[in-house]
Amino acid sequence: MARLDSHARSVRRISRIADSLEDQLGRPRPPRKKSPPLNTLIATLLSQNTNDRNSYRAWLSLRKQFPSWERVHKAPWQTIAKAIEVGGLKNQKAQRIKLILQTILKQRGSFSLDFLKQMSDEQVMEYLLAMKGVGSKTAACVLVFSLGRDVFPVDTHIHRICNRLAMVKTKSADETFEAMKLLLPPGRGYSFHVNLIHFGRQTCRSNNPLCGQCVFFDECVYPQKHRDPLRTASSNQQNRTTDFLITEKIASGSSKLRNHSGR
Ligand code: SF4
Repeated sequence: MARLDSHARSVRRISRIADSLEDQLGRPRPPRKKSPPLNTLIATLLSQNTNDRNSYRAWLSLRKQFPSWERVHKAPWQTIAKAIEVGGLKNQKAQRIKLILQTILKQRGSFSLDFLKQMSDEQVMEYLLAMKGVGSKTAACVLVFSLGRDVFPVDTHIHRICNRLAMVKTKSADETFEAMKLLLPPGRGYSFHVNLIHFGRQTCRSNNPLCGQCVFFDECVYPQKHRDPLRTASSNQQNRTTDFLITEKIASGSSKLRNHSGR
C-alpha cells in the first residue's frame, strides 16, 4: 500500500513538473507531417555525440550528395564518411548507416521502414534495438517522431535532469527510459521530451546550470546547485546554443539552418 502511494506521488509530481515546463515553454505538438521512419533513424544516429546543428549539417550534406538511400547503400563507407564528417565520429557512423541499409534491404527487399507502422511499440523497439549502433533513445525517437507514438525518449541530457530533479534515481539513460515508462502520465511523452531538451539547453545545462533562474530550485537534489548571481550572469553570456531538434527539423522538411527557439 505504502509502495502504491509512493508511486502515485511520483506520478503526480512528474505531471506537475511537466505542467510547469509547459507554462514556461509552451506545449509542443508533434509535427503533423511525419518523416519516414528510416529518415528519423539515420538522422538520430547522426545526432549521437554531437549537437543538433552539426548533425543537421551532416544530414543535409548526406542528402545532397546521395538523393536516395539506394545511392547511400551503393557507396563505399569512406565516401559516406566524407559526406557526414561535420557531425563527428564519421567512420563509425558511416559504417553503421551502411550496415543498417544492408540489413533492411536483406530483410525487407527495399529501403523502407514503413512496415514498422503496423507493429506495437514493443515490437518496434525490439526490431530497431537489434541493429548495431541503435540504442533505446534512437529507437524511441523513431516511435515518437515518425510513428506518432506516446513514448518518452531519454538522452544523456534528459537523464541528467530527471536525476537532478529526483524524478528517478538511475545510473544511465537506458535505466531512466525504463523507469520513466512507469511514471510519466499518458499523453505527455512528446511534450515532456521536447521541453526537457530545451530546458536542458537553456537552464539546466550539464556545466554551469543557471540555477538562479530555475523554478525547480527548491526541489532540486543536485549537490552543486547554486544561487550565485555572478555565476548565473557569466553563464548566461555563454548561452549561445542552437535550439532546435534535428528530429523536428527533418519532419518539417526545412533546409534552413538558423538559430530559433523551436516555439
Ligand atoms: S536548480 Fe540548477 S541543477 Fe537544479 S534543476 Fe534547476 S538548473 Fe538544474
